[in-house]
Amino acid sequence: MKNSRRDFLTKAGATAALSAMPLINYGSEYVNAIDTTSKLSAPKDLKITDVKCGYIRGGHSLFVKIYSNQDIVGHGEGVDATPGTYHLVKIFGDRLKGKSPLNVNRLFEDLRRRGFFEGAQAGMYIAVLTAIETALWDLAGKALGLPVYQLLGGKFRDKIRVYMDTALYQNRLPTPADFAASAKEAVDMGFTAVKFDLDQANDPNKYDHYNWTASPAEVQRMYDQMAAAREAVGPNIDLCADMHGKYDTTSGERVAKVLEPLNMMWLEEPIPAENVEAYKKITESTSTPICAGENHYLAHGFRPLLEAGAVDAIMPDLQKAGGLGEGQRIANLANLYYVPFAPHMVASYLGAMASCHVCASVPNFMILEWQIYFHKDPKFKEIVSYDGPMVENGFITLSEKPGIGVEINEEGMRKYADKNVPFFK
Ligand code: MG
Repeated sequence: MKNSRRDFLTKAGATAALSAMPLINYGSEYVNAIDTTSKLSAPKDLKITDVKCGYIRGGHSLFVKIYSNQDIVGHGEGVDATPGTYHLVKIFGDRLKGKSPLNVNRLFEDLRRRGFFEGAQAGMYIAVLTAIETALWDLAGKALGLPVYQLLGGKFRDKIRVYMDTALYQNRLPTPADFAASAKEAVDMGFTAVKFDLDQANDPNKYDHYNWTASPAEVQRMYDQMAAAREAVGPNIDLCADMHGKYDTTSGERVAKVLEPLNMMWLEEPIPAENVEAYKKITESTSTPICAGENHYLAHGFRPLLEAGAVDAIMPDLQKAGGLGEGQRIANLANLYYVPFAPHMVASYLGAMASCHVCASVPNFMILEWQIYFHKDPKFKEIVSYDGPMVENGFITLSEKPGIGVEINEEGMRKYADKNVPFFK
């Protein structure tokens, strides 16, 4: 059992006061003991002292640090539904001060229930709660000397398979040759799965910006792009395509049907996410697997989709949907319906590794999203601190360090900080 620093210093001080002479021989052991003795007091004495935050990407990436009375700091990230939430972070911080960060699920539930009339069902409230909850897991893991996946019940796997999101947005009017080149580039980098975007409200093949019916030329364009990607990488690479919820039900059915010969991993959100019956109609009409859920919140949000058999795969965003514990609960719920868990991920490497701990902890994990920006935008290396390579041959190696294993690099992040709100103050 390790002594607390205070106990140790008191005892060491008393020993020194009683007898100065033995310290000559005792000195090196005394120094060694200081180095090897835990600097922490007992876990029961761990208390939250402050919560601070910073924003980048126009407020769409929220980074949270939770401070404690033992100089252990927890790091967390929230995305998308976070602009304008600075004061919400501060309110949550006030509610957490003086509490033990080790009761992560209880603190999550306290904040969620207390926010019942403040919107604690979805959106900004849950996105901020997600960042806070993630930082609590990181803090708890560091305090107990365990990686977060261990706190979540252990791991099913050591490496997390990821797919490359190519970000070949349709507003750049990519050709089938661009799709082929981009798919080939990802495979050459070692990835075994690649995702493309097919939707575009300003597609020149569209007759009406607001109407969501895909014209025959638009459906053909989508097929030609995906067929070129399939041709480039062969039959054994997983391909998926995202329509960002921008089409109507019949168009969704048509696109899913036309893509059937390409043996897709999934077609993502052909229609907006609210109507479960419409999803069920598309899913039942096609052999192309249908995936949805990046804008769903909490396990409650996924229950109707799963109960109705409306999707073939779910993709909660673990920086938005409620956090790491809630992510695990969502995955376990999906597992009851034999539905795979394939999280959406548009975060920094902190969020990516946080997601990995959840992905490792559930049996039905399928694949996690990865972004081309990690390879092309230096910002994503500057804003975090971590050991080792980010990704190798299409897999992230799960961190074995206490906590998440990736931290916010406050100095690296500062130059990208949203200037409209205080930065970690
Ligand atoms: Mg998507």
